[in-house]
Amino acid sequence: MSLFPIFLNISDRPCLVVGGGAVAARKTRQLVKAGARVSVVDPAPGADVRRMAEEEIIQHIAAEFSPALLDDRVLVIAATDDDKVNREVSELARARNIPVNVVDNPGLCTFIMPSVIDRDPVQIAISTGGASPILARLLRSRLETMIPASFGRLAKLMRKSRESVRKRFPDMRLRRRFWENILQGPVAEMLYAGQDKAALKTLEARIQGTDAVSNTGEVYLVGAGPGDPDLLTFRALRLMQQADVVLYDRLVAPQLVELVRREAERIYVGKERDQHAWSQTAINEMLVKLAREGKRVLRLKGGDPFIFGRGGEEIETLSSEGIPFQVVPGITAAGGCASYAGIPLTHRDYAQSVIFVTGHLKDGSMNLKWETLIQPQQTVVVYMGVKGLAVLCTELIKRGMPADMPAAIVQQGTTPQQRVYTGTLRTLPGLPSTNAIKPPSMIIIGEVVKLHDKLAWFQPDGSAD
Ligand code: SAH
Repeated sequence: MSLFPIFLNISDRPCLVVGGGAVAARKTRQLVKAGARVSVVDPAPGADVRRMAEEEIIQHIAAEFSPALLDDRVLVIAATDDDKVNREVSELARARNIPVNVVDNPGLCTFIMPSVIDRDPVQIAISTGGASPILARLLRSRLETMIPASFGRLAKLMRKSRESVRKRFPDMRLRRRFWENILQGPVAEMLYAGQDKAALKTLEARIQGTDAVSNTGEVYLVGAGPGDPDLLTFRALRLMQQADVVLYDRLVAPQLVELVRREAERIYVGKERDQHAWSQTAINEMLVKLAREGKRVLRLKGGDPFIFGRGGEEIETLSSEGIPFQVVPGITAAGGCASYAGIPLTHRDYAQSVIFVTGHLKDGSMNLKWETLIQPQQTVVVYMGVKGLAVLCTELIKRGMPADMPAAIVQQGTTPQQRVYTGTLRTLPGLPSTNAIKPPSMIIIGEVVKLHDKLAWFQPDGSAD
């Protein structure tokens, strides 16, 4: 079936819905949303329709369908569970050239209702010509993830500035280029990131031509999560796919780097455990330099940029240099590893608080506030602590934590290579298998580790422990 796609203005026009069940109520709501005057005919409607009638959003006609109800209607939907009635409505409506839709019966329809992605005032309608509503829904959910929720706000902002842009750029080509720059540049990104005022200010400055930094790019500081690509946020993925250049380090799983736009330049600023290939200052300066060249710079971080990620330092430099930036949170290793290892970080019976620390070894010791770590009913998560595992466990026992306190190491959490080693503070460092722990790995200490045996649900091939 080949259909002609249109968007219909039914504002304040009389429409009829035959049937008052749940499906009819859904269709009715869509009509109401478009501003139609809707009458629903059903002798015994469902709760939704009754409520809409009480609220006077619609008119309810408590009767069976009769042909006279079609008088003056501009659109009709039949949604009864009586095939005969649906067919009659369809035939009568068609005889009068009134557009008619019969739910779940394409053969009786003269129009179909598409799957809609609603970013008011922007609407995207999908039709498979009735071939497969499920396919349309699938497509819709894909598009939903790609189109920012605040897309509509961008459209509204453009609508507001349309006139002044038209005056400023009477030439159509220039105007189009101007809008393209706005839609693919910082103004749009600011709006998506909830920086509405800055977006408006930048847009106005660009219209006036007073924007001194109009060639400046922007920086996206993005948390890529602990490894499993499915744990990326929609926003992270979108920014990854529009970057001109990406700076990433070893913690970002290769399969995540794969998802960055193919044409983007890739810069590895890898920080190995013992050597810093790039100093933090060099990274900060590189971000500024690339943004000044007008590029969209993606700074991709493992986990969350603000948890042991030095993200704060990077954006401090950007901020003092006046470079537009935004920060996208990611799932931090603690959350990812805990979930995928079946070790809840808090639990009513075992832990009312959780503490994240870094167990970096410096001159053979760890600089930690030990007394805060040995509190009962608390889970301790140690990032970067595996090298100092023995020191950590010895110190904790020495300061008073029970030697039989359960503890776990989660290696390469959330990836197909995940492995979980469990023991106690006393036994964990001595387990032969822990000699070969591969990075990245983290340590979880606390009674909650006991739950692992019962709750370990993620068992990738070859890693069952
Ligand atoms: N910003 C990151 C942490 C950076 S510190 C975040 O929020 O997750 C680096 C440490 O994180 C590693 O030494 C390791 O302890 C931990 N880590 C990161 N990814 C991990 C993973 N997939 N599995 C286990 N530990 C991980």
